[in-house]
Amino acid sequence: MNAPHAPAPNELATPDLFTFDNSYARELDDYCVRWSPAPASRPVLLQLNRELAAELGADPQALAAPDGVAALAGNRVPAGAEPVAQAYAGHQFGGFSPQLGDGRALLLGEVVDRNGRRRDIAFKGSGRTPFSRNGDGKCALGPALREYLIGEAMHALGIPTTRALAVVATGDMVRRDRALPGAVLTRVAASHIRVGTFEYFAAHHGPERVKRLADYTIARHYPQLAASATPYLDLLAAVAERQAELVARWLGVGFIHGVMNTDNMTLSGETIDYGPCAFMETYSPHTVFSSIDSAGRYAYGKQAGIARWNLARLAETLLPLIDADSPRAVTLATEVIDAFPERHAAHWLRVFRAKLGLDEQADAAVDQALIDDFLLLIKGLRLDFTQSFRALYDARLADAADQLPARLLALAGDAVRSDDDGADLVAWSARWQARQPQCAPALLAAMRLANPCYIARNHQVEAALDAAVEHNDLAPFERLLEVLRAPFDARPADAAYGEPATREFTTCYQTFCGT
Ligand code: AMP
Ligand code: MG
Repeated sequence: MNAPHAPAPNELATPDLFTFDNSYARELDDYCVRWSPAPASRPVLLQLNRELAAELGADPQALAAPDGVAALAGNRVPAGAEPVAQAYAGHQFGGFSPQLGDGRALLLGEVVDRNGRRRDIAFKGSGRTPFSRNGDGKCALGPALREYLIGEAMHALGIPTTRALAVVATGDMVRRDRALPGAVLTRVAASHIRVGTFEYFAAHHGPERVKRLADYTIARHYPQLAASATPYLDLLAAVAERQAELVARWLGVGFIHGVMNTDNMTLSGETIDYGPCAFMETYSPHTVFSSIDSAGRYAYGKQAGIARWNLARLAETLLPLIDADSPRAVTLATEVIDAFPERHAAHWLRVFRAKLGLDEQADAAVDQALIDDFLLLIKGLRLDFTQSFRALYDARLADAADQLPARLLALAGDAVRSDDDGADLVAWSARWQARQPQCAPALLAAMRLANPCYIARNHQVEAALDAAVEHNDLAPFERLLEVLRAPFDARPADAAYGEPATREFTTCYQTFCGT
């Protein structure tokens, strides 16, 4: 008789969906509140990010099975998870809200992914928490799918971002201006530590607690600073550097975050909270889509200035740690904040040089002028930002800079005002060609990756969400997702996704916070 096979210890220890290791709940347990997700009536898995699941060391099939879906709906807390609601504050549209926090979110736990990176796994829409104030703690399906889609689009564009692992329809309705289907989004982030997290502990608890948070943040995101003699000043500078680059990369693809409150700015340097965000089509620095941003505080062209403003709020929380001598701390922190515009400008120049296919050999001022003049031209002609820059790449690829003016005039259509427009384009193209007559293969490859064909265009996003929410039809969403996951290859079959919305659509288009 055969002896029964005894399972090896590691088979016995098969993780329940994820191998959690919850450093925040463990090390900063007094920075959050242990809390359980609210159950969903009839959970249905609508989207699962299989590639991301695998990256997290999870089995996509297990996640899609009933036990997995129950976990992703909040109906079952998987072994090893320690759900917590995180405390944070924040400056919203310039005014300080001392108590925000996870009002409709929970951090389920953390995993160390296949690349050795620690990632948060968190819910959005998982019910009320002690931080909910008057909110219902829920998330409507449309905003959950929107966050999923835009996060994937940003990731494919190479921009640091939180990503969505799953969207589960709860089977419950949520009340907004009308009843809407509810959903739980599972979000994966480098962490959920925000400028507002620091503001919360500075406002309510003082420097000792801020220091613990700062030490945790350094260990998690900037371990190279741990041995520094000035770790907190260096932390500020390091966060500023990541934000300087992040915003430059947003600007390079026409992204408008829409609600750059300090609670929506991460210390990790990832883009977070896809609420009223949108991609600009016709180029104008004043572009705003958010219904709640009537003053244009968070317009496309203001984002670098806002990032700096937010970093100043972070700096204020760190002052007592930077130096015991408070005037000296202010001087040191101010130097970092004042250096931000220059740091951002350096990243911006790098991003836009890549968009024009320029090497780094010429004087920065010469290239800055060339880029600025191109932006002025496309602004004057009311051209689509993405198409205009892609036209530069296409012209380079065909080694035909002389064809650029005709292509841009074709894009302008009836917006061409005079023969001067054509002459200006010809003159600019000649300058561009003269600046970089030879485009080496590496430069051309970088230029391609800087100039997508496909961005998440507002009319396409709305059509996909409308089909999903109003007609239970996820096909347009999945088709759009597929297009946005490969943004750099022009595909004839996807040509429609590269076209801007009609002027009528864009004139009336507004985005909303996902509340
Ligand atoms: P957001 O606009 O998503 O950045 O959220 C700003 C703040 O409002 C955070 O503290 C959220 O937790 C809270 N919040 C947003 N929507 C809700 C909701 N439906 N229920 C409870 N809190 C919410
Ligand atoms: Mg937020």
